[in-house]
Amino acid sequence: MAKSFQLTLLGTSAAVPYKNRYLAGQVLMVGNQSFLIDCGEATQFRFKDWGIKTSKIEQIFISHLHGDHCFGIFGVLTSMAMMGREHPLSIYTPKGLEEMVTAVFKATYYSSPFPIHFFEIEPTGLTTQNAPIFENKNLTVHAVPLNHRIPTVGYVFREKPSLRNIRPEKIAELNLSFDDIRAVKSGADFTNTEGVVFPNAELTIDPTPPRSFAYCSDTAFEPSIAPFIKSVDLLYHEATFMQNMAEHAQKVGHSTAEEAAQIAKMAGVGRLIIGHYSSRYDDLLPLLAEAKNVFENTVLGIDGEMYSV
Ligand SMILES: [Zn+2]
Ligand SMILES: [Zn+2]
Repeated sequence: MAKSFQLTLLGTSAAVPYKNRYLAGQVLMVGNQSFLIDCGEATQFRFKDWGIKTSKIEQIFISHLHGDHCFGIFGVLTSMAMMGREHPLSIYTPKGLEEMVTAVFKATYYSSPFPIHFFEIEPTGLTTQNAPIFENKNLTVHAVPLNHRIPTVGYVFREKPSLRNIRPEKIAELNLSFDDIRAVKSGADFTNTEGVVFPNAELTIDPTPPRSFAYCSDTAFEPSIAPFIKSVDLLYHEATFMQNMAEHAQKVGHSTAEEAAQIAKMAGVGRLIIGHYSSRYDDLLPLLAEAKNVFENTVLGIDGEMYSV
């Protein structure tokens, strides 16, 4: 069975919390690994609400240092320690977060019982040719330069292609060795001792296609994002305002719902989730309608909702 690839939204509000909308934070679960993306205030409360285990989080990705995206980090780090965490944590972030965390720890006479490694990302000069900022055996993460008021990056998570699934009955039938199995799973045909060739297609089943997710918040309308997030299955793009506020959005480094949809269309993504809504909008359906007008496969990001690929 294919492992899960599921996004949980912890907060979809911009700048300030609003009724049922908390500040930026989401968790991508790939199999039994969880990646925390942004960490607005109260993120750790949402872990409790949505059953997210912090012990499964080994990497945190922060888009930028506006408070609505990172002021929750202090609570998350100290609670992890309270729960007995000893294994290391890596934090990928534009420059400045390590200084903030260090200053808060110092002022509160606190030191972390588990190692925290900071990896600083400089958005300027990032291209689609850059190496991943993180990779493990299952996936890669690349940074995307966003267009906001301070240094800001998005993140693209792409699964690596899986090996082919071998038909279990073929192992006994053809008496395949460990090396044969490895070769067949990588796509090779099998030749037996009598020289009979068994084509790979007869021996294996297609693996699940690699899945992908991109996070783009906060950013003004920025077409240069498109090649970075090309063809991802799932895109979260901020949609702080409606199109009638496009000029204001541009000025403050945010996007409208329609602009988010334009980016989704340009990049040819599978599905768009919009979020990071201004607190001026109580009813979000008009934002959804505006986006759907340009990109039909758009859904409203809702706090606590899960989106599977
Ligand atoms: Zn924000
Ligand atoms: Zn911001």
